[in-house]
Amino acid sequence: MTGTDAGSGTGPSPGHAFRIDVFTLFPGVIEHYADASILGRARAQGRLDLRTHDVRESASDPHRSVDDATFGGGAGMVLAPEPVFTAVERVEASADGLLRPFILLSPSGPTFNQSTAVRLGGSPGGSAPGFSLLCGRYEGVDQRVADHLVDEELSIGDFVLAGGELAALVVVEAVARLLPGVLGNDLSAEDESFATGLLEYPHYTRPATFRGWEVPEVLRSGDHGRVERWRRAEALVRTLRRRPDLIEARGGLAPDEVRLLVEHGEVQVLRDHGYDW
Ligand code: SAM
Repeated sequence: MTGTDAGSGTGPSPGHAFRIDVFTLFPGVIEHYADASILGRARAQGRLDLRTHDVRESASDPHRSVDDATFGGGAGMVLAPEPVFTAVERVEASADGLLRPFILLSPSGPTFNQSTAVRLGGSPGGSAPGFSLLCGRYEGVDQRVADHLVDEELSIGDFVLAGGELAALVVVEAVARLLPGVLGNDLSAEDESFATGLLEYPHYTRPATFRGWEVPEVLRSGDHGRVERWRRAEALVRTLRRRPDLIEARGGLAPDEVRLLVEHGEVQVLRDHGYDW
């Protein structure tokens, strides 16, 4: 096993860190990314216990081969069941055990989204201790792994990657940044895209005028109430324009939201989406 179980710094003791085990043929990919990202900081603070397991170390033949040809013919190789079962069962038999759900990254799984990240991370302050991930390679993983070892599958979108490592990192990072204390400002996770069923409002920083383009006056007004209402209106307009499916999923705009958009002069987007006021 590679990976650090704990670290230095402030925060919860290592025993309380949220644990994620990643089974992969390329543990270095996960480790390098973790070292260079908030995952490394979360580890160092003892908030995230990210462990990587090299599946190849569980291969029994002298060449440490982990793949074999597809039964029935066809191009490409398949990740064999034996090294995967052995790697997972070794962890299962260890003192710390294996944390489930044990999830296979696969284009055939349901699509990962923010609700899945929240579910896997547990609610803030909740008791979910962690989960485990399996990265496929080649043409994929022997089906018996999916049928008899794995609890669920997750895809990160309708495209095909060469391996599950990037998909695993997407899941790990999306979950880890929701853990208490991992983001510098915990409010950022509550406020951002998808957390409220909306896309996020636009952000600006200095300078107030850049190449003649001005930051909206309201954001420089110091009037927190106005800023709040502007941000809410912008989030609603952006979501209505770019992701009307998200608005539909929350049952459409509420009457006070329609009024807010009218107040902000956003009548065209309301008309375009069939709202009356
Ligand atoms: N032959 C498979 C298919 O058509 O569905 C694709 C296998 S892909 C080349 C190899 C591995 O990459 C998969 O086993 C999976 O672990 C990972 N992978 C590829 N695309 C993915 C996606 N969209 N989401 C999650 N994992 C993915």
